[in-house]
Amino acid sequence: MHQALLYQKLAGNYVRCGICRWRCKIAQGSCGVCHMYRNQAGELFNLNYGLASSVAVDPIEKKPLYHFYPGSRVFSLGSWGCNFHCPGCQNWSIACVDSTAVESQSEKISPEEAVRLTKQNGCAGIAWTYNEPTMWFEYTLDSAKLARQNGLYTVYVTNGYMTSEVLDMIGPYLDAWRVDIKGFTGDYYRRLTKITHWEGILETAERAKKKWGMHVEVVTNITPGQNDDDVQLKGIANWIKTKLGELTPWHVTRFYPQYQEQDIPATPIETLEKAIKIGNETGLRFIYTGNVPGHDGENTYCYCCGKLIIQKQGYNTQILGLNNDRCGFCGADLNFRRGKL
Ligand SMILES: [Zn+2]
Repeated sequence: MHQALLYQKLAGNYVRCGICRWRCKIAQGSCGVCHMYRNQAGELFNLNYGLASSVAVDPIEKKPLYHFYPGSRVFSLGSWGCNFHCPGCQNWSIACVDSTAVESQSEKISPEEAVRLTKQNGCAGIAWTYNEPTMWFEYTLDSAKLARQNGLYTVYVTNGYMTSEVLDMIGPYLDAWRVDIKGFTGDYYRRLTKITHWEGILETAERAKKKWGMHVEVVTNITPGQNDDDVQLKGIANWIKTKLGELTPWHVTRFYPQYQEQDIPATPIETLEKAIKIGNETGLRFIYTGNVPGHDGENTYCYCCGKLIIQKQGYNTQILGLNNDRCGFCGADLNFRRGKL
């Protein structure tokens, strides 16, 4: 067990967790909704510090991050638990677990070991991914500091539901914020995740970019009959444009039947193409399809001169025309982050 960094002691040996926006009030001997933070004798502890469920060397494009160190490899670490319990989760076997089963199934990786393995595997940085990174927040913070000291980049692949205190603690050490915006109504977020303050996800993403200067990319997994209506898609596109900027990449990914949503069909390609059209009409410059191998929507084109900038075949990335963060043909700003941290 590892002492948690953000909580408040309350009367009667209760604590108030400050990691995510649930801000769970936790009785002695109990856990928050995530099952990974426990009140032990009136103090809050994280139960999975350094306990990895999944370890992989991935192309950065798999996160997906398309405008961040394209072609690089990223050391990817996941742990256990989630503060959302979405019925269509792709990673439910690690996200929806009880903390009691965790330790025996984990690979123990200290921050020092993670940095060593990142370099040994020829990776340019570390991503905390597969499950929600704030489920082992203290570990990701220690690791991010060490990664930065070693010249490595750092990435959160997140549902974005942490408190601003959490963001502000790790903000100085984090380079990229890959956030899911799952829909654009309180009703949908409540049905899917049970959360009530969904707008906090938007505020945190905006703060990650504006206060901490992170590179931000947004993913929406489009699910038939759930979040594929024009109102939500236009809402997301418009929010990205006005709060994060028109050069922010938006990934619209194809839903496949998973977990408790086996009865929902895979997303028709036409629906993804409708989302791209909506994004274009709203003024977004980079909208990508995901989970559709070989679709032209995986490639990067310059919005100014129309030339093909990055071509993808699976996870094979070919950079054809980039000059630092600009178009190699016409010089337009393409919002790429690469090179020195
Ligand atoms: Zn161009």
